[in-house]
Amino acid sequence: MIPLPATEPFDLPAVGRIPTAPRLRDSHGRAITDLRVSVTDRCNFRCVYCRTGKDGAQYAELAHADYLRMIRLFVELGVEKIRLTGGEPLLRAGLVDLVREIAQLRTVYTPNPEPLDLALTTNGHLLAEMAQPLKDAGLSRITVSMDAVDPETFTAITRVPRSFDRVLAGIRAASGAGLGPVKVNCVLLRGFNDSQIEAFAEFSRREGVIVRFIEWMPLEEDRSWSREAVVTLDEIVQRLDAYRPEGVDAAGLVALPANSASETARRYTFADGRGEIGIVAPVSRPFCGHCSRVRLTSDGKIRTCLFSQMDHDLAGRMIRGATGEQLSSYIRTIVQGKEARHHIGEPGFEKPSRSMVHIGG
Ligand code: SAM
Repeated sequence: MIPLPATEPFDLPAVGRIPTAPRLRDSHGRAITDLRVSVTDRCNFRCVYCRTGKDGAQYAELAHADYLRMIRLFVELGVEKIRLTGGEPLLRAGLVDLVREIAQLRTVYTPNPEPLDLALTTNGHLLAEMAQPLKDAGLSRITVSMDAVDPETFTAITRVPRSFDRVLAGIRAASGAGLGPVKVNCVLLRGFNDSQIEAFAEFSRREGVIVRFIEWMPLEEDRSWSREAVVTLDEIVQRLDAYRPEGVDAAGLVALPANSASETARRYTFADGRGEIGIVAPVSRPFCGHCSRVRLTSDGKIRTCLFSQMDHDLAGRMIRGATGEQLSSYIRTIVQGKEARHHIGEPGFEKPSRSMVHIGG
């Protein structure tokens, strides 16, 4: 563990603070309201599209107090949504305590201080036991990654036997704990799990969860990504539009309005309004113009885009004793340099300097 720095002024919780400077924006005018924090790059799954299966964790983990200090800095600059991720965040001991601490923070740039939107992304393997404690600690929402509703296909993707039942139990426990509607993320890979699209629609309707299909991006440890393997938004829409769910008179998808301008998913339901499907299409329909996100890696580096070629050492500065003011100014400078957009599929595209599992998805 990296030792904590001496107490600094920014240790005060961001409760009822009156902002004295404009909120955090990048040089393209995008407000940065959403911070994803990886608390480990260890993972207990070895999903074929993400990891080679040969390598383990590569980067340090910080003490929870360090993540909390960095999160406070961002909240004081205008961040209102925090998503804890990894690696697999449920592998971190003490995670529930971290959630409890973050849940005490309040927004700074709203007319009245409000609780943050505090979410977690997990593979669900350890969720059944942790859903209620996480809810009780103040977690607002949860996303579970599940790439097949057929147990054998699921095992072929995760390369962990008998994991499907545990993840399903985790999803149900999260719904039961009041963390619903649970979002279930599925990355579709041609030839692996694209046969599951309609079954996922039924799953959404039956379990009361929001299923979100995500286009596969070139963020894997291996070099296996190809455009041909990406199942695109158009294909998914076409398949589901032709599908008639059980008990519904007619086939056809019904588009739903976006919840917010920065929402990444296009939303759909069926004729009877049961079930919700979101499609996140960073490859075929990039949404960089509305990006409101930055990321903190498990070793405390800021990443301004999933596809950044470098990261920026916030934790190092903090641990070497920079003041809150100096750190805030550093964050503002780094965020100014946030990339306009990614360049997936363009000539000269360079893979990012870290893969998804080591950034935090
Ligand atoms: N272990 C947690 C989980 O499984 O949700 C959190 C980390 S995981 C990296 C976060 C999400 O990123 C998962 O939904 C995973 O499917 C997705 N993901 C991983 N590699 C991806 C890629 N190359 N393209 C798109 N999504 C990816």
